[in-house]
Amino acid sequence: MSDMSDVRVGTGTGTGTGTGTGIGIGIGIGAGIDIHTAAAIEVLSAEKTYPDGTRALQPVDLRIEEGEFVTLLGPSGCGKSTLLKMIAGLLAPSDGRLLLWRKPVSLAQASAQKLAFVFQSPTLMPWASVQANVRLPLDLAGMSRAEADARVAEVLKLVGLARFANALPRALSGGMQMRVSIARGLVTQPQLLLMDEPFGALDEITRHKLDADLLELWTAKKLTVVFVTHSIHEAVFLSTRVVMMAARPGRVIEEFRIDEPHPRTAEFMVSPQFSHHARLLQTSLLRASVDTTEAAL
Ligand code: ADP
Repeated sequence: MSDMSDVRVGTGTGTGTGTGTGIGIGIGIGAGIDIHTAAAIEVLSAEKTYPDGTRALQPVDLRIEEGEFVTLLGPSGCGKSTLLKMIAGLLAPSDGRLLLWRKPVSLAQASAQKLAFVFQSPTLMPWASVQANVRLPLDLAGMSRAEADARVAEVLKLVGLARFANALPRALSGGMQMRVSIARGLVTQPQLLLMDEPFGALDEITRHKLDADLLELWTAKKLTVVFVTHSIHEAVFLSTRVVMMAARPGRVIEEFRIDEPHPRTAEFMVSPQFSHHARLLQTSLLRASVDTTEAAL
C-alpha cells in the first residue's frame, strides 16, 4: 500500500454542499471519509479529439486523492468512458497530461499491478473455470502457480465466489459473472480501480447488492475508485465525490461532495440526506442534458 500519510476524520472533506457534515462522527469503524495528502490521479488540461474529428472532451482538469471514490456522471456521449480510458492509459490524450501517483500514465503503467480496469461486460473466457479466469493476469505476469492459486482463493472468498472456483462462466448468473470480473481486477492487488458502468446491465436488486459489496471492498482494501455510471442513485450511494459532465463537447461542469459516513447501508438510501444529494444531482444532470441538447441544435 501507499507510503503516503493519511488522516482519518469523521466529518468528511472541506467544501461540501453544507449538509450532512458531522453525521459521521463516532459511528463505528470506517465512519467518515479519509482525507489523504497524496494525489492518485491528476488530469491536467487533458482533451481528446478522435481521429475521425469527434471532439470527445474539452480540456479537463481533475485531481483525485488516494482513497477517494469518485463517480463520473453525465448523459450519454459526454466523454465519461473517454476520460476513464485516458486515466487507464488505454487512450492517449490529444493534448494535456495525465499523471498517476505523480508519474505520466505511460510510466505508471509499467507498474501495472497498481491499476485495474473493470469493463461493463465481464469478458470472461467461456471455456475456462472461474479460478482460471481470475488467475489470468497472474499467469500473464509469470507468477508461480502456488502463489497465484493462493491469491485467487483469497480474492474469490472476498467476492463471495469461493464455492464456484471450478464452475464455468455459463453456469453463473450475470451478477456472479461480474463478481468474477471484479475478482480478476482485484487479484493483482491494485490500489486504483477504474470501473466503466460495471453494473449497468444488471437488474436493480443485483446491482444494489454489488454496489454494497463494492463499498466494503473499497473500505477493506483502501482502494481509490473511479466509477462511471448513468445512475444518480448509484452515484449518491457509492461516492465521496461526483463529477458531473455534459456533452458536445464533453466537459466537466460541476462537482459534488457526498459527505456522508461509511459504511453506507440500505437505510441511507431512504434517508433525507440521500434525497437531498439525489435532488442536487438530478438538477445538475438536467442542466447537463439541456446543455447537451441545445448544443446539438
Ligand atoms: P460516454 O462514456 O459519456 O457515453 P464516450 O466517452 O463513450 O461517452 O464518448 C464521447 C464522444 O466520443 C461521443 O460523441 C462518442 O460518440 C465519441 N466517441 C467515442 N469513442 C469514439 C471513437 N473511437 N471514435 C470516434 N468517436 C468516438
